[in-house]
Amino acid sequence: MVVGSAMYEHGRKCWFCCSYGLSRLRDKRVWCSACRSKYSLRKLKRDLKVLYYFYLEVSARKCARELGLNYKTIAKRYMQYREAILRYSENDFKKLHGKIEADESYFGGKRKGNRGRGAFNKQAVFGILERNGRVYTAVVENVSAKTLFNHIKKKTRKGSVFYTDCFKSYKDLKQYGKHNRVKHSKTFGKGHNHINGIEGFWSFAKERFHKYHGINKQNYPLYIKEMEFRFNNRKENLYARLIGVIRQFAPKNT
Ligand SMILES: [Zn+2]
Repeated sequence: MVVGSAMYEHGRKCWFCCSYGLSRLRDKRVWCSACRSKYSLRKLKRDLKVLYYFYLEVSARKCARELGLNYKTIAKRYMQYREAILRYSENDFKKLHGKIEADESYFGGKRKGNRGRGAFNKQAVFGILERNGRVYTAVVENVSAKTLFNHIKKKTRKGSVFYTDCFKSYKDLKQYGKHNRVKHSKTFGKGHNHINGIEGFWSFAKERFHKYHGINKQNYPLYIKEMEFRFNNRKENLYARLIGVIRQFAPKNT
């Protein structure tokens, strides 16, 4: 199997329906007999280049400069990729199970000061991570027991083994599974009782988040989902995974 974009770029496989057997038209576009799409391979190739820059985490500004394209067009395309990732995760998320770490963290605002729960001007994000597996994230309006538990019920299997810190919002978790509370710093590196996995995800996401300056707060959910997707596919061929997601969930531009 050819992984990546080559089979689409060269017109071996239809971008829209994945069928083989495209025909070339006189105006240099291709035509798919299966789904009857007509499109330009040149445009598709350019789009896939933009996606490649996105995959490499090159800024929209730099991507526009290097490809000689309009910045606004690229910025818009990048946002469409993030929207596609969001739609994909809403569609495709299977419940986490087994050993699960849950934790909340804060994004944005001033970097120094105002740390901790309820921090002013920061955005609370809830994260649930299956050990040696995937993470699920949600931007939340508050970190009440009710809010967090709703996400846990929706995204994890009942009877899982949960690890959290001693925050009061987790107090009812024992009704839903086995609940282990981790006292911070004292248990670091000792045995199973830790939340190092989800903390690792927060560092992964924040390192990337800080590279973007001044993300509009209303776009946080898109960026957080992007980080979730990158983290969950960090051991995969991420570019190939992105192509799959963008093919299915991004607006058709070609
Ligand atoms: Zn087709």
